Amino acid sequence: MKLTDSITELNGIGEKTAALYAKLNIHTIRDLITHYPRGYDEWQDIVGIGELKAQQINTIKATVISNPATSYARNRRNMSMTSFKVRDESEVCDIVYFNMPYMKNNIQLGKQYIFRGRVYLKNNKMAMENPKLVSQEEFEQKVHRLAPIYPTTKGLSINAISKAMRAVINAVSFDEDYFAEDIRKKYNLMDYKSALTGIHFPGSRDEMIAARQRLVFEEFLFFIVSVMVLKEMAVRDVNDSPMMRVDACNELISKLPYKLTDAQKSVWAQIEDDMCSTRLMNRLVQGDVGSGKTILAILSMLMCVMNHYQAAFMAPTEVLANQHYASVLELTEKYGLPFKPVLLTSALNAKQKRRLKESISLGTVNVIIGTQAILQNDVDFYNLRLVITDEQHRFGVKQRETFTQKGIQPHILVMSATPIPRTLALILYGDLDISVIKEMPSNRLPIRTCVVNTAYRKNAYKFIEKEVNAGRQAYVICPMVEAADDEIAGESILENVIDYTKKLKALLPKLRIEALHGQMKSALKNSIIEDFAAHNIDVLVSTTVIEVGINVPNATVMLIENAERFGLAQLHQLRGRVGRGDYQSYCIFINCSSQENATERLEVLNKSNDGFFISSEDMRLRGPGDLFGIRQSGQFHFSIGDIYQDADILQNAQKCAAELYGAYIENDRQPPDKYERFWRYYEDNISSGVDFINI
Ligand code: ADP
Ligand code: MG
Repeated sequence: MKLTDSITELNGIGEKTAALYAKLNIHTIRDLITHYPRGYDEWQDIVGIGELKAQQINTIKATVISNPATSYARNRRNMSMTSFKVRDESEVCDIVYFNMPYMKNNIQLGKQYIFRGRVYLKNNKMAMENPKLVSQEEFEQKVHRLAPIYPTTKGLSINAISKAMRAVINAVSFDEDYFAEDIRKKYNLMDYKSALTGIHFPGSRDEMIAARQRLVFEEFLFFIVSVMVLKEMAVRDVNDSPMMRVDACNELISKLPYKLTDAQKSVWAQIEDDMCSTRLMNRLVQGDVGSGKTILAILSMLMCVMNHYQAAFMAPTEVLANQHYASVLELTEKYGLPFKPVLLTSALNAKQKRRLKESISLGTVNVIIGTQAILQNDVDFYNLRLVITDEQHRFGVKQRETFTQKGIQPHILVMSATPIPRTLALILYGDLDISVIKEMPSNRLPIRTCVVNTAYRKNAYKFIEKEVNAGRQAYVICPMVEAADDEIAGESILENVIDYTKKLKALLPKLRIEALHGQMKSALKNSIIEDFAAHNIDVLVSTTVIEVGINVPNATVMLIENAERFGLAQLHQLRGRVGRGDYQSYCIFINCSSQENATERLEVLNKSNDGFFISSEDMRLRGPGDLFGIRQSGQFHFSIGDIYQDADILQNAQKCAAELYGAYIENDRQPPDKYERFWRYYEDNISSGVDFINI
């Protein structure tokens, strides 16, 4: 079996099951083995009832001391509650089952059982809800082991995924590790097969950490090597027709209703220099949300257009592309800019698309705005000379190749709102020149932030209601889409968009509340976001899909549930969705865990609004065992590595990449025998086949 084979090669995975896997973006064997657990369920020793802690998952061994009784809720049909009391040497507690009246038949008065479940404090007493009845054998088998918890979808259970995973790890031959022995020794890396076993079925926490280390290392390594290859390509890119500076840019600057900050001015000067020089621009502009990157994009496009070239402006989503198009159009009219902008997205019908492509190839339009579709469609540009990507971290290898194949050599400007400490930026963006907008426009009202616990929710809802009544809007972020059937011991309960929306609608019946999440079809997603932007929705309950780039200046409240489960840098990004207009904005982080270090971490956000400081604190406060479970979504889509948590590994991978790449160059661009397997793997799977740099 090969990594590129379809998962239908596995016994028991037919077309139906494959369709379920496809929902999780798993198509090939490789997709499956890189479907890493989002966490592990670790069974702890049995505790006395007296030691139970609210919100935690515990295991008790106790005797039933009252007959199970079932009651039915009056107002809600089908809702039943079956409860009874149990005792051990230390204490008595209640066991409660919701909608499982049959549990009565499994329980006998006076008998002793092992129960494992989540504990709640009810009327000042501990109660365990919906616990699993566990046999002595099962308990002994599972105690102290780490069971993988995979992201799942309806119809595909964790058990089913685990089974397929075991089968794959056994079936695929991993005899040849693409890391040579000396590299494995030097960087202390497990072999590949052990690492896969260790990440999916760890015997211990240490084994899991070591396995993860290897997998993160290789993911970073391949990424960095591809950056090195790009860098070399970029160095060779000569700009054969430098642009001229134009007065129109200074005129526009003088007409703006605000003054550019010094930081904006100096970055603009760098961009001008680049486009006038004899080398092609390859620049990343890093600036916190709201630092004013868009006007720099407009100025660059103006310079390009005045030099009689075409410019393209790309956003990660259609919604964002629409927003950019609207604002470019507005500026075009307001300031009489010589832009003939068009919006190219997949929402156009075939005829519209054909017409647009024609005008693009004839050069009758000069500013093309859209998503990546701009490149994917077979668009013939008349004379494209500048490509700007907004909120997209990396310009993929593939995208550059696409240009080269079309015979286009554009200046490239990448704009990112993700603040990354300089040491890491140099590694991750090694092929780009980096500009940083260090300063915020001075008219900004800082966002008021608070970190609270779940007891504060009621006040938060009242506050949202008040803001909505004043004409504003709010976001609520939950980490999950739907209720997870499997929970992880020691973790707080994860709120989910579906149930939360229902709950909020019931609590705030006058407000227009809608749900948004990544599993929706993109047309539906877009229309919900547009409705929110048009203020047809007051409160948007969403997963982190809204993290990238949404701009609704009327939204003033950001409420984040399970804030303890996100990285600080990501929370800062989410917070940046408010405070974009003239109104005072607020961000409420709800810490659902009782752990103290969670509070300490979140307090960083309370103290600082500086993305660079926050991301370096994120790096400092995390250790190798911290798995947040919620992927840093949005920008760097590493499948297992996390640039903040794994900053050390990133630096080691950089060293190793330099060695491998150096040896390759020294050997006249031929892989030295020793590293042949590594380069073969790179050539086959990364440089061309897989566009692993997600943008
Ligand atoms: P981002 O860097 O997040 O893309 P934008 O470019 O969207 O930020 O800018 C946010 C808002 O700030 C816009 O409404 C823009 O017009 C405004 N803005 C940009 N530069 C300045 C400035 N120097 N002074 C005041 N407002 C500015
Ligand atoms: Mg922006």
